[in-house]
Parts: sequence; C-alpha cells; structure tokens
Amino acid sequence: MKTLTLKPGREKSVLARHPWIFSGAIARIEGEPESGETVLVRSSQGDPLGLAAYSPASSIRARMWNLKPEEIINSEFFHDRIKQAIQRRSNLIPDSETNAIRLVHAESDGLPGVVVDRYADVLVVQILTSGAEFWRETIVDALAAITGVRHIFERSDVDVRKLEGLPPRTGVLKGTDPGLVEIRENGLRFQVDIVHGQKTGFYIDQRRNRQRVGELAHGCEVLNCFCYTGGFSIYALANGAAKVTSMDSSKEALEMGRNHVLLNGLASDKAEWIEGDVFKVLRTMRDQGRSFDMVILDPPKFAPTAAQADRAARGYKDINLLGLKLLRPGGILATFSCSGGISAELFQKIVAGAAVDAGIDGRIVQTLTQGPDHPVALSFPEGAYLKGFIVQV
Ligand code: SAH
Repeated sequence: MKTLTLKPGREKSVLARHPWIFSGAIARIEGEPESGETVLVRSSQGDPLGLAAYSPASSIRARMWNLKPEEIINSEFFHDRIKQAIQRRSNLIPDSETNAIRLVHAESDGLPGVVVDRYADVLVVQILTSGAEFWRETIVDALAAITGVRHIFERSDVDVRKLEGLPPRTGVLKGTDPGLVEIRENGLRFQVDIVHGQKTGFYIDQRRNRQRVGELAHGCEVLNCFCYTGGFSIYALANGAAKVTSMDSSKEALEMGRNHVLLNGLASDKAEWIEGDVFKVLRTMRDQGRSFDMVILDPPKFAPTAAQADRAARGYKDINLLGLKLLRPGGILATFSCSGGISAELFQKIVAGAAVDAGIDGRIVQTLTQGPDHPVALSFPEGAYLKGFIVQV
C-alpha cells in the first residue's frame, strides 16, 4: 500500500484523533499516490496509525479517514459513516416542524470534505477536498441509498476547493434541477434557492439562534443587518415585533425576504427592506439619529482563516460600534461571527472594545453557537466557527 511516514513526534496529533496532517509533519511518501487516494499513515517508527486521503496540492497534505490501518476505505465505509451521521441527527432534531437539516458536517462527522444539507426532499452536497472528490460517486450513491432522496444537487462552488487544486463544481448529481424548494424551520416557511443561493441555499446553522432572537423581538423595533432572505426578520415578525427593517446588499435575497413575509401570512407593512452596504447605511442611520430596540448583525465570513484576522477584527468592530450606537437604552444587540479565524474569546474582546468606544455599558445575556446538526468533534476544535452574543445595553 502507498504510505505516508510522519516525522518523529508528529504522530501526536493523529493519536489525539485530529484529522489533519500538514505537509511539514511528513518525512516521506512512498508509492506516488494520486490526488485523493488512500494512504497508510505510519509513525516515524513505522507503526501503522490509520488511513488517510492524500491531498498533493494542499498544505493540509492528508486527512485521516480512521485510526484502523486494517480497515478498507470503500463504499461500505462511506455507507456506514453517512448512515451513522444521519442516525445521530434523529435524536438531536426530532422536531417535525423542521425539514432543513445538515446531515453530514465534514470532519466532525468523520467525513473530511463532505457536507450534506437536506432541504425537504432535496439533498445539497459539497465536495471540498481531494479525498472527497476521489470518492464522489460512492458518496453520492450512498446518500441516495440511505435517504431515499431522489434529487441531489452539488454546490461545490467554494474557495476552499482552490487550496486543494480542484475547480468549482455545481450541478445535478441525481434527479432533476431542484430550483426553489420550500422548507419548514420551526414551523416557519422559507424558500431556498438551491442553485443560485448562498452556501447551499440557506443558513441552517442559525436555526436555533433565529428562534431565540425572535422570541426576544416581541414588541421591538428591529434592525436586521446582513439579512439574506430575511431569516431573523421572519422570526421577529412571527413573534410580534412592532417593525423590522432588514438590510442586505443582495437584491435577489431581499426579494425572497419580501416573499417570505407573505408566505408566512405576516404583515408586509411592518417589514422594511433596504438594499445597500451595511457599513454605509449604518453610518447614514447614525447621522439621521435613528434608533432601534434590537439590532442584529450576522455578517458574512470576514476572516476564513487566522491570516485575515486583523482586517476582519476592524470590520467587526466597526459594525458593532455602529450597531450599539443605534440602540435605545435597554436595547438588545444580537451579534455574530462565522469566521473560522476569529475565536469566541477574540470576538468577545472586539464587541467589548466597540462598546467602550461607543461609551455604552453592555452585558452578555446569552452566548450562541451553531446548531446541533453542525457538531464540533472534540478532537477538532476548528469545527466551531459560529459564535454569537446577545448583549443588553
Ligand atoms: N442572517 C442571515 C444570513 C446572513 S449571510 C440568515 O439568517 O439567513 C450574510 C449576508 O450578508 C449575505 O446575504 C450577503 O449578501 C450579505 N452581505 C455581505 N456583505 C454585505 C454588505 N457589505 N452589506 C450588506 N450586506 C452584505
């Protein structure tokens, strides 16, 4: 078998069940494995540790499939892993009011590079690494067999594939073009544009946070920044918010947001939609002396990795400062970061710094994170990317 031998001492993280092997940890590679091929990983002493997928183009040169060198990576392996991931969800989200769920969350489900979201009767798949690419047909066949879902669509149009030397890929994998799919989330109805929407179409990782923030919005005048298709806005309106102003730079997303108000039988006259750059519009609102009882900030990833952390920190501080200034006394800031490069601790410092600069006292009344269908393997802390605070001023 083709093998990858580690440098002395570098087996430590593998034995700690961390799935990544960086190029600098490798002493030698034998047998010229091709992109994504399975390699046997050995310690510097030659002890077999487990099997991994080889990524020749990436600085994460291999990702562990298992710690069982005797196992075989084949269709049965993927079938088992996917089945287990789906079974775990059935206890976590037994809610019949929700039919949009992440079924496979990559490393944290033992399947590096594989993300699968279910939207009603459609699966959306992201294949992110060379290893996942190598097994793509096997994975898709296993998903179809296990779930019985007939329509499977690929949305591997993400930057991380570049690091693996893989081109973006989207399209039908099974069945037909899904177009717009209607989902239910905590009993609310949303349309998901699987083909053109952001990510795989919807931010399901915010499901519980939308619910919590919605509950707090009763009677409030709410400003929802980076609203996408109005997720938080619809929850706020459904929970009796007095008025919700929603802002995004995407015209298409705002159009869908407007439709979501109607789809849920909510009052259109309580919903205002603004197309624009949040950084600019918040300044204009500040200059106009506008104020709100609740401000929601759920921006896109400013720092995908730690390398962009400094610049990202300035962006987060800017919007949090502006958001805090727009709050009435006793108001609530619901603020999020989905940047892998910004830790929860750093994010808290940024928000605290923004409050100091705004001259405002605030307290965190709740800490939020990604939903339970986006688990974080204990051995893979990198999986914790979404952090949020509910701050009362
Ligand atoms: N809260 C949303 C998800 C937000 S995703 C939900 O619950 O569904 C981030 C959104 O920010 C995207 O819709 C993107 O179009 C928007 N966006 C990115 N940069 C922006 C900017 N500078 N100004 C306004 N919107 C922006």
